[in-house]
Amino acid sequence: MLDVLQRIVLEVNSAENLNQALEIIVRRVKLALDIDVCSVYLLLSEENRLVLLASDGLNPDSIGRVKLNLGEGLVGVVARRSEPLNLDNAPDHPAYKYFPETGEECYHAFLGVPIINARRMLGVLVVQQREERRFRNEHVAFLVTLAAQLAGAISHAEMIGEIGAMQTQARNAHVQVKGIPGSSGIGIGVGVVAYSLADLDAVPDRLPSCIETEVTQFTQAVEAVQNEMEIIKQRMQDSLPAEERLLFDAYIMMLGSESLFDRTVQGIREGNKWAQAALRDTIRENTRSFEEMDDPYLRERASDLRDLGRRILSHLQAPQRTPEDFPERTILVGEDLTATQLAEVPVHRLAGLVSSRGTSSSHVAILARAMGVPAVMGMSDLPVTRLEGRQMIVDGYSGRIHIQPGRELLEEFRRLAREERQLSEELRAHSLEPAMTSDGFRIPVYANSGLLADMAPSLQSGADGIGLYRTEVPFMIRDRFPSEDEQTEIYREILTSLDPRPVTLRTLDVGGDKSLPYFPVKEDNPFLGWRGIRITLDHPEIFLTQLRAMLRASQGLSNLHIMFPMVSSVSELKGALELLARARDELLDEQLAILMPKTGVMVEVPSAVYQAEALARRVDFLSVGTNDLVQYLLAVDRNNSRVAGIYDCLHPAVLQAMVQAACGAHRAGKTIGVCGEMAADPAAVLLLLGMEMDSLSVSVSALARVKWVIRHFSRERTQELLEQSLCLDEPAAIRALLNNALVKAGLGGLVRAGIH
Ligand code: PEP
Ligand code: MG
Repeated sequence: MLDVLQRIVLEVNSAENLNQALEIIVRRVKLALDIDVCSVYLLLSEENRLVLLASDGLNPDSIGRVKLNLGEGLVGVVARRSEPLNLDNAPDHPAYKYFPETGEECYHAFLGVPIINARRMLGVLVVQQREERRFRNEHVAFLVTLAAQLAGAISHAEMIGEIGAMQTQARNAHVQVKGIPGSSGIGIGVGVVAYSLADLDAVPDRLPSCIETEVTQFTQAVEAVQNEMEIIKQRMQDSLPAEERLLFDAYIMMLGSESLFDRTVQGIREGNKWAQAALRDTIRENTRSFEEMDDPYLRERASDLRDLGRRILSHLQAPQRTPEDFPERTILVGEDLTATQLAEVPVHRLAGLVSSRGTSSSHVAILARAMGVPAVMGMSDLPVTRLEGRQMIVDGYSGRIHIQPGRELLEEFRRLAREERQLSEELRAHSLEPAMTSDGFRIPVYANSGLLADMAPSLQSGADGIGLYRTEVPFMIRDRFPSEDEQTEIYREILTSLDPRPVTLRTLDVGGDKSLPYFPVKEDNPFLGWRGIRITLDHPEIFLTQLRAMLRASQGLSNLHIMFPMVSSVSELKGALELLARARDELLDEQLAILMPKTGVMVEVPSAVYQAEALARRVDFLSVGTNDLVQYLLAVDRNNSRVAGIYDCLHPAVLQAMVQAACGAHRAGKTIGVCGEMAADPAAVLLLLGMEMDSLSVSVSALARVKWVIRHFSRERTQELLEQSLCLDEPAAIRALLNNALVKAGLGGLVRAGIH
């Protein structure tokens, strides 16, 4: 049965349209179960009725004509109850409804199972049999399993159908698809599918007519791509900071590397292959091992490599798309968009991004945020190839796209986009003013930096310092651990450029979703495994090098703060502090007079919440990393699009934990700040003020709005709001309360735009 099931799913997945998919289902199921009838009813959203769309066994003329409301007839009952219904004699059931056009009066046994995708009722799969008997349990189990597996494919095929229908029908109804917000903002424009790059998998094997000609052509193609990367990098000069542009240098290096360039040339010469096939094989070899890894960062490397391979191939095959080929307002759409595909579109023409794979922590979403381009990710059912030339709205706030929107909807979003622009201008105008509550409490607002996502915080950004510098990136973009001198130089630059403002350098936090290409960690449960301080304590040689580099970088300055990630016990903290003291002693022995920096602990696992006071007594400050804390408290993977809907920083459990952490730190007489994404959510900021958090640290793009919120509220008012929130049991009620408070304070713009 499992084999049959897998084959049906495979066939359905490769169907070209919805009708074909449904026909395969009814034909194959009827055959597999040896029954008289198999039919599929789908719930059509426009009519909100279940319509018979395919049947093997019922009268073909009834297809498209039999329609039922939810709850009407047996099929309607299955859909309304979201449960299978197994009857030996259907006409005996009180809800039985007879449709003469089907010719079903001769069938007695009835089994209907619901087809549900991500909680959405898609329709009902029905089998019928002439004789009066109940379907066997194995049949029920088979159909339930099949329906669960087919739901995704049906939803995908359905969307292809809906989008296809737009070509022929002039109608107002548009298609709306929900994904994951990747970068906030509203983008309105025309779809351009980024799949036009050459297809490596389609390259046939062929003998070279002349080996040397193949080698020359391949070399020229690689040089052409290297030039392209250089041009793209220059083009990004004004829109991306230097740190982010390093990515393109990494690509240029990959292109000339031994593993890509030399191996392909070797493949041409020794394998007697033409350049295209040698390239195909090198890319396959190189990407396969990356792709098998669980680690998202390494998987990104595989997709970068494939992208470079396709680019070289396209030079071997045909000329490229020029900047003028992109529409004035381009919405770039792709299966798995890459950073270079994004960068290829002239910045002033790029209105939005849609990627059917990835989450908000994918490279491309990170770049989109850095560039201020709205993006929606993780739309797995989206038929990407059908979106070329379609008018689209990308709503990066809610993570929705609207395909071929009607006039009214378009107007509504244009208005929202205008409001958003006005709001940003207003916020920017006040971004340099200090953040002080209306009753006189000054709350430092720091910038997060270090990740590709974070713009290099300039002196103009209005940040009071750097509250979180993620040191992982210099480690990630190399093919080995950076040396002490290399690290010293990087840290020195940050410390001097912000002096005398404080800079908090976080020690290496790899593992979990971040790992190093040259230090792979393969685990079944990486988020509960070897990450953050656990790795660095186990590798004192790596840790001491980093600590020495941080201390050396601070010579003559007094703004260095060092913070430890993923601390889950006092003993870990003691271990880290001992190593820090040792690093400083070593430097003193080397005649380098270095002040002891302020030290801090990140509160990002539940055990640290309960031990906040004990931890705080041993350091100068605590900083709550809500990105991880929420994931660990709610047991929701922060990168998994399936559970993204239940990841909520306003969950009452999260709020209770944060109150507890704040009290613990204050009892120890130490400060506590928040450096996770929660601090950038205007509604959450109200609660953080109420909890008396001493500082907030957010990405530069969120600085102005966070300061704006702080300025519009008194601490007293936020304490009232916190008290009220703590009496509510559900995140939605808490958000409603806080949104209401923002609107009343005249900050409705932030709520309307859905910024959170
Ligand atoms: C956090 O977990 O909230 C945090 C700031 O760290 P990161 O996002 O780097 O894990
Ligand atoms: Mg973290």
